[in-house]
Amino acid sequence: MAQKKKYVYFFGGGKAEGKAAMRELLGGKGAGLHEMTRIGVPVPPGFTMTTDVCTYYYDHRRQYPKGLADEIANGLGRVERILGRKFGDPENPLLVSVRSGARESMPGMMDTVLNLGLNDRTVQGLVRRTKNPRFAYDSYRRFVQMYGDVVMGLKPADKKERDPFEIILERKKEARRVRFDTDLTADDLKQLVAEYKAEIKKRLGQNFPDDPRAQLWGAIGAVFGSWNNDRAIAYRDLYRIPHNWGTAVNVQAMVFGNMGENCVTGVAFTRDPATGEKRFYGEFLVNAQGEDVVAGIRTPRLIAELKEVMPKSYAELDRVCKLLERHYKEMQDIEFTIEDGKLWMLQTRTGKRTGFAAVRIAVDMVDEKIISKEKALLRIEPDQLNQLLRPIFDPADKERAGREGRILAKGLPAGPGAATGRVVFHAEDAEAWKKRGERVILCRVETSPDDIRGMDAAQGILTARGGMTSHAALVARQMGKVCVVGCEAIHVDYARREMRVADTILKEGDWISVDGTTGEVMRGEIQAFPSEVLQVLLAGTLDAKASRVYQQFTKLIRWADGIRKIGVRTNTDQPDQARVAVAFGAEGIGLCRTEHMFFGGERIRAVQEMILAKDQSGRRQALAKLLSMQKEDFKGILDIMGARPVTIRTLDPPLHEFLPKTEEEIVELAETMGVPVAELKSKVESLHEFNPMLGHRGCRLGISYPEITEMQARAIFEAACELRREGKNPFPEVMIPLVATRQELHLQREIVEGVAREVMKSHGVKVRYLVGTMIELPRACLFADEIAREAEFFSFGTNDLTQTCLGLSRDDAGKFLPSYVAQGIYPEDPFVSIDQGGVGELMRIGVQKGRKVKKELEIGICGEHGGDPRSVAFCHEVGLDYVSCAAFRVPIAKLAAAQAALKR
Ligand code: ADP
Ligand code: MG
Ligand code: MG
Repeated sequence: MAQKKKYVYFFGGGKAEGKAAMRELLGGKGAGLHEMTRIGVPVPPGFTMTTDVCTYYYDHRRQYPKGLADEIANGLGRVERILGRKFGDPENPLLVSVRSGARESMPGMMDTVLNLGLNDRTVQGLVRRTKNPRFAYDSYRRFVQMYGDVVMGLKPADKKERDPFEIILERKKEARRVRFDTDLTADDLKQLVAEYKAEIKKRLGQNFPDDPRAQLWGAIGAVFGSWNNDRAIAYRDLYRIPHNWGTAVNVQAMVFGNMGENCVTGVAFTRDPATGEKRFYGEFLVNAQGEDVVAGIRTPRLIAELKEVMPKSYAELDRVCKLLERHYKEMQDIEFTIEDGKLWMLQTRTGKRTGFAAVRIAVDMVDEKIISKEKALLRIEPDQLNQLLRPIFDPADKERAGREGRILAKGLPAGPGAATGRVVFHAEDAEAWKKRGERVILCRVETSPDDIRGMDAAQGILTARGGMTSHAALVARQMGKVCVVGCEAIHVDYARREMRVADTILKEGDWISVDGTTGEVMRGEIQAFPSEVLQVLLAGTLDAKASRVYQQFTKLIRWADGIRKIGVRTNTDQPDQARVAVAFGAEGIGLCRTEHMFFGGERIRAVQEMILAKDQSGRRQALAKLLSMQKEDFKGILDIMGARPVTIRTLDPPLHEFLPKTEEEIVELAETMGVPVAELKSKVESLHEFNPMLGHRGCRLGISYPEITEMQARAIFEAACELRREGKNPFPEVMIPLVATRQELHLQREIVEGVAREVMKSHGVKVRYLVGTMIELPRACLFADEIAREAEFFSFGTNDLTQTCLGLSRDDAGKFLPSYVAQGIYPEDPFVSIDQGGVGELMRIGVQKGRKVKKELEIGICGEHGGDPRSVAFCHEVGLDYVSCAAFRVPIAKLAAAQAALKR
């Protein structure tokens, strides 16, 4: 018989059955509680029901596995023995919390119930034991409210409705003429309990359960159930967390931060989660329970003040936090409660952080010899580097705003960066406005887990309440959003869709700017300015030594360079972008499209002339006009790239793209070209294709009109030879697109080689160059061995390869692809991240067959996927020589490439 599965793991009294490495089974929160207990940190005792229970529960129509009840009873018994209290005992009751906790933290998405085990009898026991009736009834009141909401489901029906419990609480405060719940007396709170219960009975037709065991099972079911509530599902979709993981449930003895002035609840980070600075950062509330801090009900006080209020407890907290950071070798985000001066830890986890903080913490920790360079590289999400490159506000424009009195308020800088947009007050509006193409700033009193989609849609987030550990701050950090929280000077009025700051009124749709680095909120638009990294690298307006951000950024990229095995090039046809890419350390150009050079000014005229020419000699005349212009373009780019390889693709798009479309445009062109309108029209019509993506394009153009390829080759080699004669060392790689057969490449290559020989001879110089092809058709992958005989390099054009492999037009897929991804038909958008099973398999075949014929064949990728971290990892694995991506993604690709090498 198979060994009986263990469903419940106990922790308490310095011993734990679980540990940090068991997060898959125990969830992140559970694993943290077990590990802290193990290393001697004070943690209230409790037990964890595994994620297996959750998956069982969902696989068996919400039934629990056999034996679970016994294991729970056993766990509860151990907690009772440690604390000398009994669950449900009217004399000395044990109260517990029932807490969710998945493998990956999903802050606030799932449910937790506190103070469970209270009823009209046990509350008396609590009164007697603590001699604090106010506290006992405050806990009872909170319990009924939370249980009524989370387990029984009494919540507002929609956004506009107010929380029924809050309405009753509000009424009570008004009747007693007090402002805070802390001012209510024990009797007030006792009445509230009765009123809450009556409301539950009235609205739901159910009695509030008095039996603590019934309460416990109710809460366990609700927490498992919360794994599949709408917001948890939305969150998992957003962060790609698998839906079948399930959550663990922790049942843990309560400790109380709401027992009086000697009690505190709080949250802290071992380093600043916004900037990464090494300083103990946290927030707390006196006489409160956990949820109060995160929910933004009162703006909490800074941890530094705790040092003054309760020096002993503070010292203990500081000690424990240092211990935890050292133990985990990672910045920790912790929850604590101080009950009557005694510190208890309730959670520890890897702290979410901004991109700025991620880089700073990783590099600092290497300098502090806490972690290795390799670990540091693995700790940063490649995409987070984006934040360090994003614009910041132009100081001059901000100063002007200041003089004009447009700096309205200052809150806490929770998510660095500059954001300008129009004010909206609801998450749904943020989504809707974004869809219309608007930039918005989501302004709220506080945010809740239901708002994440709207937060994602906004440029920036502004809240009136809550601290650096509030929900808004937490989520913004994770999303890399610009965010200012706890900006108490603003007064949001949802009903009137406006907010007031002193005597300024901002209505929905008004423009504001939010500086997430300083916390300032400004009326109107403020000009943005390049990031520190760009100021040093490109503009030269900042000295490298003056910018820690720049220094740490480059240090990190240098480490990545030392480790990665795969090269990183850039896709560009613009000299200024090429310059940016070189500054970021691009090692060449992987794709220089030539068609963009065909547009601008008089060029398009010459192109049109070529297309309209009746015969080859007409075409040659027109092409001659283009030659010198293309040559100058190539010269510019080859010059900037120095000796680095520059892959230049010959003409690719179908010719009709260069012709006018509307009647008016056709008439106008006919006039300037001196051809009859009818003739031009019929030419345009004759170029019409039913499916241009699969039509007369790519090398098919060069096969039909060899003179086009010839002209382009001439431009490339003239440019290269001229540079060579100036003593430079250009390195063009001529790339033929959309090749399906060896013969196609052979014909095009003959032309290029012929021109190269001729031009080099006439200049009397030799230039290094390669001729190769883009691999973007399935057939080319299958015949890669044949094609390799004609090619010195391959470059996977994964945009077209995805289209042709999946039979999916990128321009038309928008209508159904999102729903395909939502339904899991494709795990993700194949145009964003390589479809590894299909397109990836073709790539494998292409690499293998190509290299079989030519061991030294250079192989890269130039599709947009080259900047996607997962695709970069795939390219590394398949053995490509380089990836190529947009200039701004070069650092991201480098980090992703280093990570791929390390994960091997
Ligand atoms: P979340 O995942 O939403 O943070 P938690 O399970 O961590 O939910 O609990 C919510 C709040 O209640 C936290 O502030 C936590 O510290 C507090 N809390 C949970 N369990 C206890 C307990 N046993 N005693 C005191 N406070 C608790
Ligand atoms: Mg928590
Ligand atoms: Mg293509």
